[in-house]
Order: sequence, then structure tokens, then C-alpha cells
Amino acid sequence: MRSPVSDYLEEVRGSCMDGGDEGQLASYIPELAAVDPDRFAIALCTVDGTVYAVGDVEQRFTIQSMSKPFAYALALADRGLAGVLEHVGVEPSGDAFNEISMEDDGRPRNPMVNIGAITTHALVGPPEATAEQSTARVIQGLSAFAGRQLEVDEQVFASERETADRNMALAYLVRAQGKLEDDPRDAVDGYTRQCSLQVDVRDLAVMAMTLASSGRNPVTGEQVVPAWVCRQVLSVMATCGMYDAAGDWMSNVGIPAKSGVSGGVLGALPGQVGIGVFSPRLDEFGNSVRAVRACERLSNDMGLHLMQAPEIASTVLHGVVEPDDDGDQLREVRLQGTMHFAAAEVALRQLEQVPEDAAPVVLDLTRVSSANDVGRRMLREGVRRLQLDGHQVRVDDPNGVLDD
Ligand code: GLU
Repeated sequence: MRSPVSDYLEEVRGSCMDGGDEGQLASYIPELAAVDPDRFAIALCTVDGTVYAVGDVEQRFTIQSMSKPFAYALALADRGLAGVLEHVGVEPSGDAFNEISMEDDGRPRNPMVNIGAITTHALVGPPEATAEQSTARVIQGLSAFAGRQLEVDEQVFASERETADRNMALAYLVRAQGKLEDDPRDAVDGYTRQCSLQVDVRDLAVMAMTLASSGRNPVTGEQVVPAWVCRQVLSVMATCGMYDAAGDWMSNVGIPAKSGVSGGVLGALPGQVGIGVFSPRLDEFGNSVRAVRACERLSNDMGLHLMQAPEIASTVLHGVVEPDDDGDQLREVRLQGTMHFAAAEVALRQLEQVPEDAAPVVLDLTRVSSANDVGRRMLREGVRRLQLDGHQVRVDDPNGVLDD
């Protein structure tokens, strides 16, 4: 059987081509203006690492600003949250990507604008790392997110370095404020190399899904960064990822995302899907016209908006069995589904109803597929309290959901 997912993606791609040649190629990096403007590819990566890709899937392009969330992730993993926050804030700037966006204390506003991304690049690796070591760690780290060795496009790198006056000025400014660790020239060089890494849409989808899977690459299985890092990165992507159209994006599409001037957009929906789209013509905010359209379609069709409430946990209770008089049937509370806070609360409310008659209780978790930390703690506490009330409690937990 041919997967309907691929057919659906083909259909989305076709429908997003309407409007022909709307948008402009980025031209401030001369080499970027040399690409074929009609290229268009879409990829999705699922939780188990399955990748669906349609269109110009072999087309490579430079990652540009889409590298920023991953360099931020590496800096957080290497220096800790406080260590990074000392140098770069997390407030949306509402400014263009290359503006002087600074807090009153001299910190760049966030790591998704150039001034913050250059500063962040220098924070990757241990404090004693040289600029070259930071850049090497960025390239190795982004490759781990993609699950393959990424290479620098030397032509794009040279082309951007020739025209990097503005980024250089931003770096000197941060250095003057005491927030940039490296020599500004080295930091801009390293950051420009980071932006010049070549990727395709499959890479983007896998990288995004790694962020959306708490830092575990779903294809290679490597834990690239800790889970807390991904929560931080996705939060900043949600508020600052789409240049000065971040608010529009969040309300229309509702997926933490980052775009780049090469025409790519990557989106990471926690626990669900990683998206990569490429089409080089940009709108007035610097976001790819077709990629924005495609993401709007995907989000609407597949119900991917982050703020759309998930199914309410109404089916937590599979059933309650009352004990019979001759003791053949014990009192049983049977649960099902996934135990997170809302589900475990429903379960606890059921345990509360167990009469204080010292009769044994069975908590049947056979149909419970998983529990998060809070769900597990709540259920264990329920069992403990039943025991304190004098009940003998048997927990049937063949899936080990209450284990650590
Ligand atoms: N390397 C580009 C720059 O710093 C990235 C810009 C972007 O993709 O937004 O100008």
C-alpha cells in the first residue's frame, strides 16, 4: 500500500504553489540569490523516526537562522540555563532579525535574532573553549540533531563573510557590553559557518523532531541534549522564532518554529511531529511564502495547533468492580490510557470513593500504556493512602508504568 500521508503531502505541495512567484529571494548574501526560486519540498518526521518527504527532497540549502535553536540548545546543555541567561535573554524583540535588540542591561534580547545568536554561538562548549572549539562543537552538535555529518557550504560562507559588516557591528556592541565571550571577529566567523551548514528538508524534519522528542534523535536514538533544554528552546521558538511575524505565526499555525533567509522553515510540535519545508521566495518578514502556506495547511488539516486542547481525559476509568459477599471478587479499580495530571486526578477521585472497610483493593493498570512523572507519583500516593487506611492493595501493572 502506498502511504496516504505521502499523497496528502503531495496535495499540500501542489495547492501551495498557487500564486506562482510571490515573494523575493534573499539577496543581501549574494550567493543566496543564485538558487532556483521554484524549488519546493516538504518533509515530516514522526515520533518513531519515519520520514515522509515530497518535492525537491534532494535539494540542499544553507540552514541560516534555522541553526539558531540548535546552537542555543547546545549552549544550554553546556553552560546551564543560568549561565546562558547571564548573556542572552528570552524576550521577543518585535524587531527585524539584524536589529540592535538589547535589554537595558546590555544582553541581547533573545537567541533567535542575530545579535543573540552570535553571542550564543560563543557560549557553546566549556568556558575555556577557544572560538574554533566552539564552532567545531556547533557543527558536531547540529550533525547529531540531523543524524548525519553536516558540511559547510564554503561558497555561501565566503559570500556572507564578505558582507557581514552588520553582524560584526552587532558582535562588537555585545562585546562592549561585556556579554560576548569571544573576539567579535571569531564569533561572527563561527556563527557564519554555523549558518552555512547545508541541509535538506529531511534533515530539518529530523532535527525538529529531535527537539520535539525531548532531545532524543528519533532516527539514531542518540540523546543529543537533555529534555529540559528542549522545553526551553521550544518556548523561545514559539515566541521569537518567526522574525517579526512570530505573533501571527503562533496564532495561525501554533507550532514552535524557526525560519531562515534561505527559504526554509522548521516546526517542532512536542511529542508529535517535526516539519521541514523549503521554498526560497520570502515574504516581507523574511519567511518563505510557500513554507508558511504549507505549515498553515498542515496545522489546520492535522489539528497541530499547540493551543488546541487535547482530548480531555474522560476515558481514564475502564470500570469499577464492587466486591461480592463470598470474597471471590475483590474491589477493583480499572484504569486505562496515559496517566498525566488530569488522568491521575480522575483516578485518585475514584480511589477516594473506596469505603474505609479494610477490604482489599485491586488497582488494575493492565490497560494503562504509560505515565509521566506526576501521574506516576499521584497513583503511588493513592496506593499509599489506601494502605494507610488499612486496605491491602494489589497493583496489576504488567507494563511497569509505576516503575521509575
Ligand atoms: N546568516 C544570516 C545572517 O546572519 C542568517 C539570517 C537569517 O536566516 O535570518 O544574516
